[in-house]
Amino acid sequence: MKAISVLGSTGSIGTQTLEIAEEFPEQFRVVAITAGVNLPLVVKQIKQHNPEVVALAEKSLLPELQETLESLSSQERPPKLPTLVGGVEGLKIAASWENADMVVSGIVGCAGLLPTLAAIRSGKDLVLANKETLIAAAPVVLPELKRSGSRLLPADSEHSAIFQCLQGTPWAENAHLSTGIPTPGLRRIQLTASGGAFRDWSADDLKKATIADATSHPNWSMGRKITVDSATLMNKGLEVIEAHYLFGIDYQQIEIVIHPQSIIHSMIELSDSSVLAQLGWPDMKLPILYCLSWPNRQETPWRRLNLTEIGELTFKSPDTEKYPCMDLAYAAGKAGGTMPAVLNAANEEAVAEFLREKIHFLDIPKVIEKTCEKHKNDLKSNPNLDEVIAIDSWSRQNVKELVSKDKNILTL
Ligand code: NAD
Ligand code: MG
Repeated sequence: MKAISVLGSTGSIGTQTLEIAEEFPEQFRVVAITAGVNLPLVVKQIKQHNPEVVALAEKSLLPELQETLESLSSQERPPKLPTLVGGVEGLKIAASWENADMVVSGIVGCAGLLPTLAAIRSGKDLVLANKETLIAAAPVVLPELKRSGSRLLPADSEHSAIFQCLQGTPWAENAHLSTGIPTPGLRRIQLTASGGAFRDWSADDLKKATIADATSHPNWSMGRKITVDSATLMNKGLEVIEAHYLFGIDYQQIEIVIHPQSIIHSMIELSDSSVLAQLGWPDMKLPILYCLSWPNRQETPWRRLNLTEIGELTFKSPDTEKYPCMDLAYAAGKAGGTMPAVLNAANEEAVAEFLREKIHFLDIPKVIEKTCEKHKNDLKSNPNLDEVIAIDSWSRQNVKELVSKDKNILTL
């Protein structure tokens, strides 16, 4: 039985992790959860899972949660009410909860950085969905992983696919430690991309893209921010940087392939030119379960893949003109140091401004590019945590200023 702490329990990754715990109660027990503002769901999760500790990002909501729990009828109430904690300190407490064996990092955005670091520092094995943390702060996160011995298991479906393919290689021992050390024999990674919400739109049609269009994904059901990232293909760009840090592979050897069916979750090419792929229905529960049960495989009754039902799997190169975010991500990754943190924060802020109807979909890459450009002369190659946090807020501020001042940005 593994005890797990779930950061971001009310989100897409978090709720799917809790569903796994419900489905396999002999294997997994939820001892800690953290959430943002969705109190009704948090209460439901407490009743269902009886965690030992609950952290709310918004401290001011703690009294309301306490009152709600105390007013539950004796049948509904868990045998022992959880310890309630709040704010960043509270999130860190839940992330390093003593009784937890593993931490699922499912907070969205760089808000996950400090709790994830707390989990790493306490030596817990980490199930990483929160890619923004690694992208923004790899120069801090990778040495911390090495120091603490915490093992990073990638939950992002593409990186899980690569990780699963690597298990069959002689160097599998090192392939899960994810400390940025080059993986021997790994010649190339092909990250598959569904193409996002606009894959069948022409570049010209994108001028008419609305929030509703950008937040509906053809294959995956996910949180709003990552769904917009999939529509811009920034998600794939971020995943290129994530793959670079996880598997220690050069950017020249990471390729993006559009695969509309989302059945092949990514591929690796090895030194003898053999290519390995991992296949499955697009369902995040699979990579999450694999992380939770690694190195073993859990028997499941889940829908089995039948390729004859699908008929054909197709592939094409991505259109970098239609999707400039991919090249921005490659450039930021190659620049290294603080540049990925700038790219990531500018993207988070640009997507938030888009969702607030302040900028158009096509402005997202423009504000990111301008922000990265401005950072070029200030780039730090090996930043510490304070520098990463400072650069993250500078980048967000820069986007806000661009949105409020630069008339060329607003193509609304
Ligand atoms: P989501 O928006 O559905 O959920 C986010 C969770 O984080 C919620 O529990 C929310 O309460 C919490 N949260 C938000 N802001 C917070 C803050 N400031 N402090 C503390 N908690 C906060 O997002 P998601 O789709 O579950 O994505 C989570 C992470 O997993 C992202 O980094 C995303 O890129 C990654 N990921 C998601 C999927 C997917 O299928 N959803 C797939 C691959 C990777
Ligand atoms: Mg992914």
